Amino acid sequence: ETEYYKRLGVEPTCTPEELKKAYRKMAIKYHPDKNQGNKEAEEKFKEISEAYDILSDPDKRKMYDQYGTQGVREGGFAQHSAEDIFSQFFNMGGFQNMGDDEAAEFGGFSGFSNLFGNKRARAAKGEDIVHESNRTLEELYNGKLVKLSINRDTVCRTCSGSGSNKPGVTSTCPKCKGKKVIYVTQQRGPMMTQSQAKCPECHGTGDKIAEADKCKTCHGKKLEVTQKIVQVQVEKGSRDGQKIVLEGQGSEMPGAAAGDVIIVIREKPHHLFTRRGDDLMMKKSIKLLDSLVGASFLVPSISGKKLWVNIKKGECIKPGEIRAIVGEGMPHYKRDTHKGNLIIEFDVEYPSHLSDEAIHKLESVLPKSSTPTANKSECKEVSLNKVKPMHHSGGAYDEDFDRGQIPPGVNPANCQQ
Ligand SMILES: [Zn+2]
Ligand SMILES: [Zn+2]
Repeated sequence: ETEYYKRLGVEPTCTPEELKKAYRKMAIKYHPDKNQGNKEAEEKFKEISEAYDILSDPDKRKMYDQYGTQGVREGGFAQHSAEDIFSQFFNMGGFQNMGDDEAAEFGGFSGFSNLFGNKRARAAKGEDIVHESNRTLEELYNGKLVKLSINRDTVCRTCSGSGSNKPGVTSTCPKCKGKKVIYVTQQRGPMMTQSQAKCPECHGTGDKIAEADKCKTCHGKKLEVTQKIVQVQVEKGSRDGQKIVLEGQGSEMPGAAAGDVIIVIREKPHHLFTRRGDDLMMKKSIKLLDSLVGASFLVPSISGKKLWVNIKKGECIKPGEIRAIVGEGMPHYKRDTHKGNLIIEFDVEYPSHLSDEAIHKLESVLPKSSTPTANKSECKEVSLNKVKPMHHSGGAYDEDFDRGQIPPGVNPANCQQ
């Protein structure tokens, strides 16, 4: 028997890849969403899905090749609905492999991500609980054991997740036909979008239970909310946005795996340090003389130690110059004996006024520019006037700012890159 191969337009010798490709093309073409009310297409969709269901499973295909449809039936293999085969196919990555043209061919749905994205793939799993944990830089340096209390759905203890107070009173929800979700099609401009929502009739349980037969604790929802304390170790060197996943500690779902607890680390801003990877940056203002003849100053470090910093004599640190203190940055995640550096960016404070005596002394030790060689009487002599710095884009006086650094009072949204 080769009927199933014919339905998909492939040879009985075809590879699983060829089979997939053929099914994908045809399933998109004949999907009921694209052929509303077209009975012929609906029938065709069922036929190709049935064929793909058998041929895509190596055991079923072997059985079919040897004994035909009869053999498959006698093999006791479970039957799947065409919709289930389709959605499973696209959850297994079939959609991701779809080219743009093919996606467009499917009929201009922009709701693909809703249809075939996370929610569908997660239908057989309880909900994830995402919790943001705000941590100080010190906590991320030292590591921290965090305890948090979460509210999650757990299977109702009164009815053990059946939703009813006695057996045999449950039937399939007529609205979602037991699928637990409904599809909502909306016209948005020229596009039809389709998205998925929890069935409002059965609250996503897929069951219909008469009011009187509903469990008194969960009111037929099969779940109750319980509080749980979870503990999690935030490792040294963890970064902002990093996730810690506690598998199976999220919400439960009757007859399915529990979801996860996902903790997202958020780094609180620090009053002194700015983090860049494992390095810490800080600004330090020193006096002009210190920059020239050397000085010492104290810097608090992230480890809690005070650092005694020496500027060597004659080092001549310029405004904006950066220096690194090796090993005083953040520990490297999972390799915390390696540490980043503490980068200091210097600002040099100039005196606002100098006495004649000071000027005289300075002239005797510091090099001076030579007088211009032009004839002064032929030039226009001008003086330098003080102006307020301009900080808007296109200004002539905003050259001081590093590229990538945004001047104060400037909203990057208003600027051209
Ligand atoms: Zn209950
Ligand atoms: Zn329902």
